[in-house]
Amino acid sequence: MKKPLPDLSPSERRRILRRRDDDLLPNFQDLIDGAVQGILVHSNFRPLYANDSFARLFGYDCAEEIMALPLIRSLYAPESWPDVEQDYNDIIRGATFAPIGRMPAVRRDGQEIWLSVTKRLINWHGQQAVHLCAFDITRQVEVEATMMDNEQALRSILEILPVPVFIARRSDGRMMFVNRKTCLLLEQSAGPLLKSRSSDFYVDQEDRQRIHSMVDTIHDVRDIEVHMKTAQGRGFLAELAAIGMSYMGAPATLVSMSDISKRKELEDELFHQANTDELTGISNRRSFMNQAEQEIRRARRFGRGLSIIMMDLDHFKRVNDTFGHAVGDITLGTVVRASLESLRESDIMGRLGGEEFAVLLPETEQQAASEVAGRLLTHIRETPIAMAEGTIQCTTSLGVAELRPSDSTIDDLLARADVALFRAKESGRNRVEMAV
Ligand code: GH3
Ligand code: MG
Ligand code: MG
Repeated sequence: MKKPLPDLSPSERRRILRRRDDDLLPNFQDLIDGAVQGILVHSNFRPLYANDSFARLFGYDCAEEIMALPLIRSLYAPESWPDVEQDYNDIIRGATFAPIGRMPAVRRDGQEIWLSVTKRLINWHGQQAVHLCAFDITRQVEVEATMMDNEQALRSILEILPVPVFIARRSDGRMMFVNRKTCLLLEQSAGPLLKSRSSDFYVDQEDRQRIHSMVDTIHDVRDIEVHMKTAQGRGFLAELAAIGMSYMGAPATLVSMSDISKRKELEDELFHQANTDELTGISNRRSFMNQAEQEIRRARRFGRGLSIIMMDLDHFKRVNDTFGHAVGDITLGTVVRASLESLRESDIMGRLGGEEFAVLLPETEQQAASEVAGRLLTHIRETPIAMAEGTIQCTTSLGVAELRPSDSTIDDLLARADVALFRAKESGRNRVEMAV
């Protein structure tokens, strides 16, 4: 730790400084000659003093070789001479205070180098002169140039990508880079976007934090679905990929996103189409079977009851034959609506085919299921089917079965309900029969 400066009286301070100066003066030549920094004093480019380090910067062996030059202009790149002279005149006029600058120079062998230079106006034996301190920063300048080239290359690559990509600073979420596709997606031009923060575009900030913590742990995350919003406030569903990186020397996150709202809608629509019976709007056979398998697994896991009702319209062929297929279709729709009115939200009704339906009753024992079947029977019978010539009545036959430990699949359960339904038909229709 740095010691605090002693509280010195003015006389003590003067005494210490005098001692320092007394010690320094005899050794001054050594100190300057041996300094690691290149030191030069010149007056209008005529060398007055140079140390060995200065000579070596330019590929000379010793200071004398610099001192032997009539003018030191040759040490500068010719194209920078006008600037160098202007700079010299400014210093002499006292117009420039140039603490540290960087400048190109030329070594004796013609190689270009970069120097970091401090310049100061001094009095040299009664005449004005410029005192230069210089050291070689060629390597540093090359590294910086490579980094700038790399960054430029990165920006070009990201810019040309057909997907929206942005880079946000980790510390505060500030947008550091946006490509054109990002501007289009976020409905904002690059200027204002680069003043905003990535958090402005997440609907739920927890999503942003979740992505960051995933980037921290697994570095590279993909296929994350996130609700986002544009600069104009329009919401959209995005699929994100993110990766941690360093950008302009600071930790940052590179994010690519695509708007999957339309794809999602289409997928949902296709899923709906694939699982729904077009005529009645309830689950089709395939979807009903999938849901039934799920319900069986759930009933087994939680030790709950599960029942099924099979239902077939009575003498439906006659409806078609007498009133036409269109009235048959209307009848099917009306029967389904009436059935749904008699069922709970959690019950699942499906059309297994033709005019044959099934209802899955989760958490329901056989007795309760037979009561539901009775309600269906009555309600459907009492619901008139409207057609041009008036109304008709439709009756149904129903078979009820309950899940048993011996059932291995939904087909076992359906088969028993089907047998019960067959008995209902055999026994005169318009009735409910229980599986035995
Ligand atoms: P049962 O009481 O024994 O069930 O007699 P049913 O006449 O209902 O006999 P069955 O179940 O064999 O007849 C089914 C009829 O349903 C045959 C078919 O033409 C008709 N059908 C099947 N699907 C549709 C449909 O989508 N629309 C219409 N309108 N009719 C259909
Ligand atoms: Mg029938
Ligand atoms: Mg049938």
